[in-house]
Amino acid sequence: MTATPRTALTIAGSDSGGGAGIQADLRTFFACGVHGMTAITAVTVQNSLGVQGFTEIPADVVTAQIKAVAGDMGVDAAKTGMLATAEIIQAVAKTLDEVHIGRDTDTPFVVDPVAASMTGDALLREEALEAIRTELFPRATLVTPNLDEVRLLTGILVTDEESQREAARALLEFGPQWVLVKGGHLYNAPRCVDLLSDGTQFVALDGPRHDTDNTHGGGDTMASAITAALAKGEGVPDAVASGKRFIERAVAESYALGAGVGPVSPFW
Ligand code: PLP
Repeated sequence: MTATPRTALTIAGSDSGGGAGIQADLRTFFACGVHGMTAITAVTVQNSLGVQGFTEIPADVVTAQIKAVAGDMGVDAAKTGMLATAEIIQAVAKTLDEVHIGRDTDTPFVVDPVAASMTGDALLREEALEAIRTELFPRATLVTPNLDEVRLLTGILVTDEESQREAARALLEFGPQWVLVKGGHLYNAPRCVDLLSDGTQFVALDGPRHDTDNTHGGGDTMASAITAALAKGEGVPDAVASGKRFIERAVAESYALGAGVGPVSPFW
């Protein structure tokens, strides 16, 4: 028998194309050596060209999935991705309190505030943004928005280091313990610089920019790699540095698939 690995739970949507969402989370957990568990929130119909539509899972079924695994197998760290509706977000927040996951508990909780795909298709009903801010952010150990999500959540358009700091401060106002403002979508920048802050420390994580259009699932993959590192007991700054190394490699190894945007890859 093998020693039992640490466990990580993803609460997120399915991507039929296998590049993002639950599928990206599970293979990242696997690549990072943790046992992955899932609470599926929505089923998207998508391929490399975009999201054709989605159906959400009833909120009580999302809740039941979380309780089933937390009560029996135990969760060492959890993350959220696509949550689809305000009703699901409210149900997830309440359930996480009941199973003692989130900041101020022993189980770290990462919120990747997924709002739209990189092809511009909505993955969240409009009224749900407010629920992400008010229900999830105060419970989060770490939130990991990209620059489009920062603009949606705070109204701040990040264009440089100073506005990235301003965005970090604005996001911390909603109550997460740490925020990672990812700079990868600042397309004219020569490097990908992400800013991590808890309001006291401001840590710039600088990495190379790879010349590829195949970045589908990149945000999910980074948040999952961070969640896996947290599950293994790393503190937030170390876990984020681990996640950054993982996504750099996954982008470097990304591949073309289909006529549109190919996925980042954890195969190496
Ligand atoms: N589909 C699902 C289910 C997702 O969770 C996400 C991102 O989180 C996407 C699609 C979009 O991924 P990308 O923005 O990398 O295309």
